[in-house]
Amino acid sequence: MSRFWSAVVHGLTPYVPGEQPRLANLVKLNTNENPYGPSPRVLEALRAELGDSLRLYPDPVSERLRQAIAAQHDVTAANVFVGNGSDEVLAHTFQAFLKHQLPILFPDVTYSFYPVYCRLYGIEYREMPLRESFEIDINDYLCSNGGIIFPNPNAPTALLLAQSEIEKLLQGSPDSVVVIDEAYVNFGGVSAVPLVRRYPNLLVIHTLSKSRSLAGLRVGYAIGHPQLIEALNRVKDSFNSYPLDRLAQAGALAAIEDQPYFENTWRRVVETRRRMVSGLLKLDFQVVPSTANFVFARHVRRTGIDLAARLREHGIVVRNFQKPIRIAPYLRITVGTDSQCDVLMDALGRILDEPVTTAASCA
Ligand code: PMP
Repeated sequence: MSRFWSAVVHGLTPYVPGEQPRLANLVKLNTNENPYGPSPRVLEALRAELGDSLRLYPDPVSERLRQAIAAQHDVTAANVFVGNGSDEVLAHTFQAFLKHQLPILFPDVTYSFYPVYCRLYGIEYREMPLRESFEIDINDYLCSNGGIIFPNPNAPTALLLAQSEIEKLLQGSPDSVVVIDEAYVNFGGVSAVPLVRRYPNLLVIHTLSKSRSLAGLRVGYAIGHPQLIEALNRVKDSFNSYPLDRLAQAGALAAIEDQPYFENTWRRVVETRRRMVSGLLKLDFQVVPSTANFVFARHVRRTGIDLAARLREHGIVVRNFQKPIRIAPYLRITVGTDSQCDVLMDALGRILDEPVTTAASCA
């Protein structure tokens, strides 16, 4: 009964995650999961963890996992914070670094969870319009601000911002924290992690949900100066001391250690992305250059909402955002396997061959 709700709850507009359909046999290309399962070493590690030890609390600071992540990124464990999915790491980040007098800055087209955290924590924000091409113009961000955050590559556009631009941003904004959300960086992007050594105001956030095929295990991490990590730990230990359970720690460790499996998987996804983009171009889509495991594309004649609905009738789920209005014509399509790509192209070919009803066509 809403009369029991706090004023904060009344004011919330929660994030709406992509649908997890209950119907079997759908081609699920709507939430950017990896089409390949996790490394067999992850499954082995999970099985080994199933036993009597589950009666004991897990390591509150995930020491072994943080060591492994640190070794991989050539930093120390003091530079690493882990959380229950990168969404939790992001939530702590908003509270730890982005709540100041001045508004924080992020693009007008970006991960739609950011404004949700702002409302939850009472953080002022300004949305900076992307260029017509969807590129981030960092000159817009070189003004006084309470912090800066964006994904790189950006979501849902999949467009990568050059490392040199990120460095310019860090130099131009030395008094606020710059957060780069690299959820999708492992599909051909360039990570800003090496810059952490030189910029104490840089925090880079990663997830195991995409390139490590572990969306179901909920593990994400942040890399930054030890003082930033200490702030995140202060928030974590005021919220939940054990964000990663024993299974999550064991599985994530095995995933980080199985580098060959990871490389093989992301290369396959990148190869299928190439096929998908060329197929979409042939069908008269305009495709934003993608460095992620999804593509952002619009058809020259058909609306995004209509195409998404028609694909669903063919058993294929993709994502269409009606807000902000400038992205309404686009579909965000996760890169699946080669055979899922073939099914998608076949369905799109049929849909686009059908006569267009006036209601569904673009003006
Ligand atoms: N950042 C971005 C840009 C995302 O698209 C997502 C996935 N919805 C996340 C963070 C969160 O991923 P997870 O919580 O699964 O780590």
